[in-house]
Amino acid sequence: MKTIYTFGNGQAEGRADMKDLLGGKGANLAEMNLIGVPVPPGFTITTEVCRLYNEKGREAVVALIKDDVMKSVAHIENLTGNKFNDPSNPQLVSVRSGAPVSMPGMMDTVLNLGINDAVAETMAQKSGNPRFAWDSYRRFVQMYGDVVLGMKPQNKNDIDPFEAIIEEMKEKKGVKLDTELDVDDLKELVVRFKAAVKENTGKDFPTDAYDQLWGAIYAVFDSWNNERAILYRRMNQIPEEYGTAVNVQAMVYGNMGNNSATGVCFSRDAGTGENLFNGEYLINAQGEDVVAGVRTPQQIMTVGSRRWAEMQGISEEERASKYPSLEESMPECAAELVKIQHNLEEHYHDMQDMEFTIQDGKLWLLQTRNGKRTGAAMVKIAMDLLREGAIDEKTVIKRMEPGKLDELLHPVFDKAAVKSAKVMAKGLPASPGAATGQIVFFADDAEEWASRKKKVIMVRIETSPEDLRGMSVAQGILTARGGMTSHAAVVARGMGKCCVSGAGTIKVDYKARTVEMNGKTYNEGDWISINGSTGEVYDGAVATVDPDLGGDYAAVMALAEKYSKMDVYTNADSPRDALKARELGAHGIGLCRTEHMFFEGDRIKAMREMIIAPDEESRRVALNKLLPLQRGDFEGIFEAMDGYEVTIRLLDPPLHEFVPHQLETMRELAEETGRKLEEVKLICDGLEEFNPMLGHRGCRLGNTYPEITEMQARAIIEAALNVKAKGVDVHPKIMVPLIGVKPEIQMQADIINETAKKVFAERGETVAYKVGTMIEIPRAALVADQIAEVVDFFSFGTNDLTQMTFGYSRDDAGKFLSIYKELGILKEDPFQVLDQEGVGQLVEMATRKGRAANPDLNVGICGEHGGEPKSVKFCNKLNLDYVSCSPYRVPIARLAAAQAAVEAE
Ligand code: PEP
Ligand code: MG
Repeated sequence: MKTIYTFGNGQAEGRADMKDLLGGKGANLAEMNLIGVPVPPGFTITTEVCRLYNEKGREAVVALIKDDVMKSVAHIENLTGNKFNDPSNPQLVSVRSGAPVSMPGMMDTVLNLGINDAVAETMAQKSGNPRFAWDSYRRFVQMYGDVVLGMKPQNKNDIDPFEAIIEEMKEKKGVKLDTELDVDDLKELVVRFKAAVKENTGKDFPTDAYDQLWGAIYAVFDSWNNERAILYRRMNQIPEEYGTAVNVQAMVYGNMGNNSATGVCFSRDAGTGENLFNGEYLINAQGEDVVAGVRTPQQIMTVGSRRWAEMQGISEEERASKYPSLEESMPECAAELVKIQHNLEEHYHDMQDMEFTIQDGKLWLLQTRNGKRTGAAMVKIAMDLLREGAIDEKTVIKRMEPGKLDELLHPVFDKAAVKSAKVMAKGLPASPGAATGQIVFFADDAEEWASRKKKVIMVRIETSPEDLRGMSVAQGILTARGGMTSHAAVVARGMGKCCVSGAGTIKVDYKARTVEMNGKTYNEGDWISINGSTGEVYDGAVATVDPDLGGDYAAVMALAEKYSKMDVYTNADSPRDALKARELGAHGIGLCRTEHMFFEGDRIKAMREMIIAPDEESRRVALNKLLPLQRGDFEGIFEAMDGYEVTIRLLDPPLHEFVPHQLETMRELAEETGRKLEEVKLICDGLEEFNPMLGHRGCRLGNTYPEITEMQARAIIEAALNVKAKGVDVHPKIMVPLIGVKPEIQMQADIINETAKKVFAERGETVAYKVGTMIEIPRAALVADQIAEVVDFFSFGTNDLTQMTFGYSRDDAGKFLSIYKELGILKEDPFQVLDQEGVGQLVEMATRKGRAANPDLNVGICGEHGGEPKSVKFCNKLNLDYVSCSPYRVPIARLAAAQAAVEAE
C-alpha cells in the first residue's frame, strides 16, 4: 500500500484527479508541480491512512508509515539542502489538513514546525534577521499549543491563553501592534508561552522536531472526528468515511523582512465575475495575518488598489505611499504571479482561488482550488469561459449551482449596507429576496398602509389564507411559527415575495401591536429588513438594489432549454404570477390553487354564504354568485398562458379556513344572509376539526357537495370556450385533489364530464380538456393502476404525500425537524428535499403502475419539491413529463432539469 506521495521541483507522484486519495489541497499541490508552478517541496499522507488510523489506531499507523515519513522528509531535505531536526542547518515544515472536499475551519495549519531554541538562534544568524527567527518561533509555539495540544478556546467567550499573554505584553510596553514588539519581547513571549503550555498540559513543550511532526500528524487525523468536523459533514452531506490527508511541506517565509510577503488571490472577481485578477497581500507577514484583520491588507493589482482606495476615501497620494499594490511594491513578483494565475486558470478551466508567499523576493504558490463565488459571478464566469473557448456548453450547465440562481432573481441587499446592519433574529429562509418596510400585524392594515404607498412587512405569529391580501401588498413576511412548507412560505414563494418563517425567538403581541426581538420592542410602523435568502432579520431599513435578468443569465437559461428533456411548469394562481413565470421560462401551469381566488375583494362573502347555506338550493344560489368571478379568473389565466396547458385544481382546503373567526364578522355575515348570529356561530364552530389536514377537505368536499365541483367545472369550461372564441389557444386540465380510493375520482370525473357535456350542448361548441388527479395520499400511490384507468394525468402533491408518508404535520414539523437534522436522524428537511428513499418509492411505483395501466398517462409533480434541484433530478430519472414550481423557482428547475439530462448522458 502506498501511503505517501511526494512532490517538488517540477515532479510529483500525485495528480489533480487524485482528490479522493490526496485531498483537494494535496492533489493540486502535486498538479502545480507538474505544470511548472513554483511550489515548496513536500509530501502528502493519504486519506486511506486516515481511515486506517480511525480503524486501527495510532500505533498501527505509525508502524505502517514511519519509514515512509522518514524517507519523505529526506526527499524535502535533498531538494532544499537543509536538514530537519538539525540546529546547524535547519529545515522547518508546515503541516496542513486537506479533505477530498473543502471543509473550511475544520483544522488550523501549523507553520514553522521543527523549531526550538537552538534552531531559532541559527535562523537568526543565517538570515541576519533575529526578529524573523523569534517571530516564527513564538508563532509556532502558539499554533502548536492551540491546534495540537488542544489549548485553543472551545467557547467563543473564552480567551486564548497565548493572546492573553501577548495583550499583557503589549500593554506593559505601551504598544498597539504585534509588529511593534522587539526581539527581546518576542524571546520573552516564547518563554512565557512554553510556561503556559506546561501549566495547561502538565508537560514540557516538545523540542524534538520529529516529536513535533508526529504530534501534528496525529492532530490532523484526530481533527477528522472533532465535533466541529462531524457537524460540518452532516450539514453538508460529506461521507464519514472520506478521511483527511496530511500535507507536509518545506516552509517558505513571508515574514523574512520587507522583501517578503504573503497573500491570497482570485483569477476573477468572486463577487461579480468580472475578469479581473485580484487579491490581497501583506508585506513581512505569515499566513493567517491576511485574514486576521490585524493589519490592513493591500491590493495586488494597481487597478484594484485604486478602486479600493476610492471606496475607503483614501487619496491616491496616500494610497501609493502607504498602501501600494504588489505591482508597485514588488513588480517582478507581481508579474510572475499574474502569469501563474493565468496559467492555472487555463489549466483548470475555472476561476482559481490561490495562496502564495514571497520569501526574500522569490514567489511560491501554496495552494490553488476552484474558487467559491456568488450566483452572479457563477453565471458570468461560466459564460465568459464559454466565449473564450475554455469550456463547452454542457460544462456551463454542469458548473451551475441551480439554487444560486435565486440570488439573481430578487432585489438584493446592498452588500455594504448589510455589513453594517444589526441582526435581531433568525428564522428559515422561506422565500428568497431582500425586503425592507414598516411593521404591520394585520392584513387590512397592510392593505390600508400600502394604499398610502407605504412599504410594509407583515409580522405574524403564523399566517392563514385570510392574510393573503395583506401578504400580496407587503414587501415581505416574517412569522414566528411555521416551516418551509407552512402557508406563509408556500404562498410567499408563489408570489416571489420575500419571507422569513419560523423565527422562534421573536415575540409577537397582536393586542399591543408589538414584536420583541433580541431584547428590543418594535411597534407598528417601525422599520425592519428581512433577508429571505438567509433568514436574517435586521434592525431598520437596509438599502436594496434590483437584479438584471438579461445578458449572461439569459444565455445560460437558453442553454438549459437546449439540453433539458423534462418540461418545467409553474404553480400560479393569478394572471400576474402566470405571466411572471412565463417570462422566467415556464411552459404551462401545473397547479392553480383555486382557493386563493376566494379571498379577493367581496368574494369571500359569497363563499361564506355558500358554506353556511342550510340546503342545496341556497348553496346553489351562493355558488351562482361565485361562478362568474371564477370564470373571469380562469379567462385571465388562460389568456396569460396562451398556447400552454393550464392545470386547475378544484377546491382543496377545509371549509373552516373560509369562515369568520371573529364575532364582529360573524354578525356581518348573519346580517347579510338574513340568518341569526347564534346560528352562524354554531355552523362556523361546527366546521372546526381536530386535524383539518386529515379532515373534510380535498375531493371529500366535492363528493359531499357535488354542486361545488359542478360550479368549478362549469367556470373552467365556460372560460375556456370564451377565450377560445377570442382566438386563444387554450388547454385546460382539471385536477382533483386528495384522492385515496378509486370511487372518489370516478365520482368527480363523472361530475366534471357531465358538466362539460351540458356546457357544450348549451354553447353548441366544444373544447378539448383533460381530467386528472393529484397523487398525495399514500393509498393513491399504492392503487395508482386503478386510478390511472379513470384519468388523463397524475400530479404528485409531494407536500401532502410527505406529510402523510412520514406522519409529520407540515405546519408543525418545524419544531423538531431542525433538531432531527442536528442529531443526524434526518439528513434534510423532507418538506424541502424529496425523500427519495421513502416518499420517492411511492412516486416511482405510482408512475410505473399508472403508466402500465394507462400508457398515455401524463405525469408531473407540483409539490414544493418541484423547484428543488436534487428532487428535480430525481423526477428526471423517473422520466416524469414535467415538474411544476413557484414562478421564481422556474429558472432553478429548468437548470436542474438540464443538468439531470446532461449528467445522464
Ligand atoms: C401538495 O400537497 O404537494 C400540493 C401541491 O398541494 P397543497 O400544497 O396545496 O396541499
Ligand atoms: Mg396537497
